[in-house]
Order: sequence, then C-alpha cells, then structure tokens
Amino acid sequence: MEPKGPLEWARFINLVLGEAYGSERHPMSVVETAKMFTASKYSDDPIQMVEGGDFPGLEGMLMPAPEGQKGWAIFFNHQVPSKRRIRFTLAHEFGHYLLHRHRFPKGLQCINAELPNRNRALATIEEEADIFASNLLMPIDDYKNLIGPDEFTDLNMLGCAADRYGVSMLAAIRQWLRYTNIRAVLVVSEEGYFDWSESSKAARRTGHKFPSFASPPAEVPVDSLAAKRDITNYPKDGVPMPAGIWFEKDPVLEMAVFADKYDFIASLLILDFENHPEAEAG
Ligand SMILES: [Zn+2]
Repeated sequence: MEPKGPLEWARFINLVLGEAYGSERHPMSVVETAKMFTASKYSDDPIQMVEGGDFPGLEGMLMPAPEGQKGWAIFFNHQVPSKRRIRFTLAHEFGHYLLHRHRFPKGLQCINAELPNRNRALATIEEEADIFASNLLMPIDDYKNLIGPDEFTDLNMLGCAADRYGVSMLAAIRQWLRYTNIRAVLVVSEEGYFDWSESSKAARRTGHKFPSFASPPAEVPVDSLAAKRDITNYPKDGVPMPAGIWFEKDPVLEMAVFADKYDFIASLLILDFENHPEAEAG
C-alpha cells in the first residue's frame, strides 16, 4: 500500500532512510533522497533533475519534463540567501511530487515554501507540502529525543535542533510547536506589525492564540521585544513580559529572533514559565 498523506509519506521515507543510514543521518540530503527514492519507486516517472536558476518572485517549482520525455524536475531560486531555506524548498517540492503531481500534471510554482500560505485556494496543497517537508527533515520521534514533549525550551536548544536538521530557526520552531505539550505561541511581525501567528495545541486549548494572518494590520505590543526593532541580539533564554503585554491575564517569556534574511522578527512566547525550574527568567 502506498502512503497517503504528507505525514505518512515523510514517515515512510524516514523509515527507509533509517534502515539504510541509522538515526545519526541528519541532516539528510534532500536531492539524493528525492532522486534515488523516485528512481526506485517510480522508475517511469522519477525526479530527474534538481537545479537552481533565476526565478524572480518564486522560491521553487516542480515541473514535468518537456514533452516526449519522462519524469520531473525541481527548480529552486538560487538567489535565496539561505542554504537552509533552499533545502526546505527542495523538500517542499519533493512533497508536491509525491502528493500532487497527478492532480497538477503541468507542475506547481511556489512563492515561499517555508512560510504559511495566504492564498486560500492553494493553502491546502501548500500546507501538505509544508508538513511533508517539516517531517521529512525533522522527524518528530527524533526531535523528541532532543527536546521532550513536556520539556521547557529556549532558543539555544531550538538552535541545536535547527543545526541538527539543517533547517532555519523558524522551521525548527514551527515543528517543535506541532508536538510540544508546553503552551507556546509564535508571533511573526514585520516593522512592528503582526504578520502571522501559530500556537501549540496546549496554548490553543486555553485560547492563547492570535489570528493566523493579521488583518487589518495590528501593531505588536509597545513594550514587547517584537517592538524593539533596534536590537538584533536578543537574550536567547528570553525576557519575562508581565501580564497585560501579550495576554491580558498571563505573563509570558518572550524569546525573539531577528530573521535578517526575511526582515522580520519571530517572537516565541512561552506561558507557564514561572513555575518551570528550567526557565532562567528574571
Ligand atoms: Zn508549494
């Protein structure tokens, strides 16, 4: 039986990779994996080529071979300044190949593989490719050995995960949010305005969330780190923010990263940090 959804596909490929290379295989080669896996599983229709080029406004593409030839190509924008972000894009396009190539025989073009997609019509397939890429590069079983689901964390630890998997800090934070039992909220802001936000399941359960995409544009709290755009070196273990700044009734520990390659600030807000022995707040 063929795997169905993005998670199943990522698990299946990791199982194959795990058998071949063991658990210390990270960061794995996306190009090799995509080419070898599709050559053996779909020899009539494999990924033949992975190549960079000038594609203004796009990060990646999945394209069928020219007529009369078999297979597919993955193209990436080689002007994207981060190698880690390019890797994520390649994994995302590999996901489109596995999940969507039959539905989109003319291929797919992707604006930004690593960030949530605002285009409603495309949101589902983009999210599927994103879930595939995240779980291919950062298998949750492995990630949990690094940071347990009930374990408190900070940007030092999340940075270790990002290094292990060869992904950006942002991609590592988003994947951690998907499995942690800690109440945590990611807020991405640009020029002092909310851009988008995601919460862990536990945080959503208690109503600690913001709209996925801010509209109309709203300013981030004046006293938050996100509003302090002149700082580029935030403390990696965070700064406590009293109740009333981010959430009316709850204090949070705010950890901020300035993503210079994107020009935005990602704030990770951790609730319940005051009772946590590992939180070095204060
Ligand atoms: Zn895409």
